[in-house]
Amino acid sequence: MGLLTTGLPLSWEEILPYVDYIKEHGIAQFLSIYNKAKHREDNLFRWGDEIEYTIVKFDHEAKKVRVCLRGDEILKQLQAQAEVNDMMGTDNKTIWAPELCGYMIEGTPGHPYGALLACFNMVETNMIKRRKEVQKHLNEDEALMSMSFPALGALDFTYPPTKIDMKNSYGKSMWFSDEVIHQGHPRYTNLLRNINQRRGEKISINVPIFKDEKTPWPFTEEFECPEAKKNAKENHIYLDHLGFGPGCCCLQITFQTINMEEATWLYDQLAPITPIVVALSAATPIYRSYLADVDSRWDVISASADDRTAEERGIVPLKNSKFILDKARYACLSCYIHETSQPYNDIKVVYEDNILQKLIDEGVDEHVARHIAHMFIRDPIQVYKERLEQDDENATEHFETIQSSVWNNMRFKPPPSDNSSIGWRVEFRPTEVQLTDFENAAYCCFVVLLTRVIVSYNLVFVTNISTVNQNMRISQKRDAVLNEKFLFRNKLIRCEMTSDGKRKIPDKNEPSFETAEMSVNEIINGDGKEFPGLVPLIFQYLDEAETDVNTRETITQYLTFIQKRAAGEISTLAHWMRDFVQGHPKYAKDSHVPDETVYDMIKTMNEITDGTKECPKLLGDFKSKTEREVTSAVCRAEAAIVAAHEKSVVN
Ligand code: ADP
Ligand code: MG
Ligand code: MG
Repeated sequence: MGLLTTGLPLSWEEILPYVDYIKEHGIAQFLSIYNKAKHREDNLFRWGDEIEYTIVKFDHEAKKVRVCLRGDEILKQLQAQAEVNDMMGTDNKTIWAPELCGYMIEGTPGHPYGALLACFNMVETNMIKRRKEVQKHLNEDEALMSMSFPALGALDFTYPPTKIDMKNSYGKSMWFSDEVIHQGHPRYTNLLRNINQRRGEKISINVPIFKDEKTPWPFTEEFECPEAKKNAKENHIYLDHLGFGPGCCCLQITFQTINMEEATWLYDQLAPITPIVVALSAATPIYRSYLADVDSRWDVISASADDRTAEERGIVPLKNSKFILDKARYACLSCYIHETSQPYNDIKVVYEDNILQKLIDEGVDEHVARHIAHMFIRDPIQVYKERLEQDDENATEHFETIQSSVWNNMRFKPPPSDNSSIGWRVEFRPTEVQLTDFENAAYCCFVVLLTRVIVSYNLVFVTNISTVNQNMRISQKRDAVLNEKFLFRNKLIRCEMTSDGKRKIPDKNEPSFETAEMSVNEIINGDGKEFPGLVPLIFQYLDEAETDVNTRETITQYLTFIQKRAAGEISTLAHWMRDFVQGHPKYAKDSHVPDETVYDMIKTMNEITDGTKECPKLLGDFKSKTEREVTSAVCRAEAAIVAAHEKSVVN
């Protein structure tokens, strides 16, 4: 989650007098990046994944599992090893970073992957390596799990225990102590403090509860806390702390594009795909040990990080705030940025006119300018006292502090700075993390290859942006992959290329613009009519590309797995977890998941992760191909491409 600067983080009150100053310089910094990079060409596809993990601790005697707050301790050990490797000239194959909660840790590959399809043989291997590296530092009763912990906020859910202090904490939660937030760097507690301070009251999240045979109906809980009394909705699981949101884990994928135009275009084409992947990766059906009526965490995170004031939320008339804002800063995106997607921008976005004008006057593409100006309606919430004054030509922190704290399903990432080997990128952010490395590799492979297909065949997926937002809401429903329909383009359309090499989407009024209600299965596997399906399109691309037999076999496994999930032949993790709970002897069919059920479930999930338990319901009969080491020839070929590219950038 963004910048890790050293320094004294400012409270929201301390930031307030500098808000306009930081935005002004953030925009100046963006302009500097933009002007240096606007014509940049990187003839090199690159990509990388980020996986968030939860560390748990089993208490086998009490049949209880807790989150283990040793994330920072383990992270420091991993980073110390990485430093030793650097000194010894040993290549680091992994990178470790802190995450919002003390029981979390984020792992990425040591280097981004390249364009060679043979890279897909390295992805899962690297994920396995990551897991092993952490496991070396775990105690016997601890486990590293790529999942969202279902009992966050339940009684005594942390190890070591943490104290609830509703009066003197920043979060003021009834269930989630501020001590659970990562303590190794002040930025995390500061984020919590500032989100709450800016909002002016504590966080309030309502997740629809799943109604089972014996769920008391209407479902209500008695609260003494006045905010909960006011905000908790009937038939909902009430949550009240930032940690409930980003404390759930996710999988993100970043791709580098050839140039800015391709980045804006890919950003737009992938946006309509994001809800489909939310439904397909659903893995978060339980909150505070209650079964929810949703399968994914998206809206929960959105509400957990909602720093809008009461005025901005439209609850009281505007007085001190500038705008009424329809969405929190963590939300589905509201505008496309490629020129030819503009007719599909049917949501009114707010921005400050002077910021938009400044960007346009300085030569920024009008639509990119609108995206940036819209992002800059959010205030900086992470500012360091020592770093207020910056050289806007070379520093990027005031831009990044806004950019990295507006969390949408897609992110448009300009190159970090001049002379960097990193180019224009987009990030695909909605995917729920999966239990096994095989699954996580499969989702990465699917999304990354889809980008190749979109770029190679110039495919068009944009539909009205309001439709994408509506699909995002639908995608989180219980068993959306099986039961829901999404408005999606049901005809394959290619964009035209104009004489200056830019893409142009056919006119919205042409007959080719058509959407239909489609299931995830129809979107992924084809509707048997005109839409061939995303995975068959990828197979077509692979048939035309050069791949060795091994790679093709690996990719085929991943894609076939995705196809079966989409067809409902293999369960999502959310579905599997519901089944487990509902079949557990200790579950009383009242929507509440007892500790012992959570314990048995997570123990089973851990066995599935480490491969000691087979689980065809969740994984089919797929076998990981991880014993296969990537041939050194592939590594050498990759390295040569990267080296040649870096040379060309320097020149
Ligand atoms: P953030 O947390 O802001 O999304 P990170 O710096 O943690 O960003 O990196 C995100 C991902 O970007 C990692 O998976 C990394 O492997 C990948 N990555 C790094 N360099 C490149 C590049 N040049 N092109 C594409 N992806 C890259
Ligand atoms: Mg990251
Ligand atoms: Mg990221």
